[in-house]
Amino acid sequence: MIEIVEVAPRDGLQNEKVLVSLEDKAELIARSIDFGARRIEVGSFVNPKKVPQMAGTDELVAMLPRRADVTYIGLVMNQRGLDRALAAGIDEAGAVCVATDTFAMRNQGQTSADSVAIAADIVRGAIAAGKGGQATIAAAFGCPFEGEVPQDRVVAMARKLAEAGPREIALADTIGVASPGQVDALVRAVAEAIGPIPVRVHFHNTRGSGLANAWIAVAAGASVVDSSLGGLGGCPFAPKATGNVPTEDVVYMFERSGLATGLDLDRVIAASQWLEGVMGGPLRGMVSIAGNFPASAQN
Ligand code: ZN
Repeated sequence: MIEIVEVAPRDGLQNEKVLVSLEDKAELIARSIDFGARRIEVGSFVNPKKVPQMAGTDELVAMLPRRADVTYIGLVMNQRGLDRALAAGIDEAGAVCVATDTFAMRNQGQTSADSVAIAADIVRGAIAAGKGGQATIAAAFGCPFEGEVPQDRVVAMARKLAEAGPREIALADTIGVASPGQVDALVRAVAEAIGPIPVRVHFHNTRGSGLANAWIAVAAGASVVDSSLGGLGGCPFAPKATGNVPTEDVVYMFERSGLATGLDLDRVIAASQWLEGVMGGPLRGMVSIAGNFPASAQN
């Protein structure tokens, strides 16, 4: 069983130019629940002046159905964001730290080590409030400013984060440069360092390696995979590149290989086609373009 975290409403939309209304976001989340997603990254609690697409996440959360079997994740970068997320009624806080100093300074004006400490505090704060907390290591497979990221550094960060007791630790290929060999080595090393805490992975298909990376990550011990409906999203450091690994392609790959995801692929495809209408153009899920196989009974 592979757990899929649907990230289109946050990581996907945040990197798209088309501004999407709260109503359409709520509909996207409702359709995600309908196709079987049980953990959904619904938005972030950051300064709306810096990230206009994420304005009104508080209002959005209030519009969502409350279900015991669905976890709404909010991205949180600092204590202020955590306070907002908790007040909004989010189920789980997702904290982020960055693997290199240059990227961390440009992104949040802090060192990589400071970003780890802050992320660990967010996880502790969320858990203390009775909510879920987890942390992502951004640029874990490569940095747009510093290039290669030493594996040992990422492992050490994961060890530090693990002390806070997160639900899981995610390794994110923020700029889409990871290769399967690198993913295999890093996931194994981190899984060994933080076990029994699960490893989650987050891949962008920027250079076409996203699906291969997701596959090998699971073989190496990751149990949770982020994906984005229709491959929504992009890469701020490669403006013409594709986005996150598409949910429909990830589900097809795993399900056809006998690994259950809990998602209904025909409904995922239907939701992706609906989302094309919202975004005003074709999306990037290959399986939504080509169709399911074998075709299901109703087709
Ligand atoms: Zn991402």
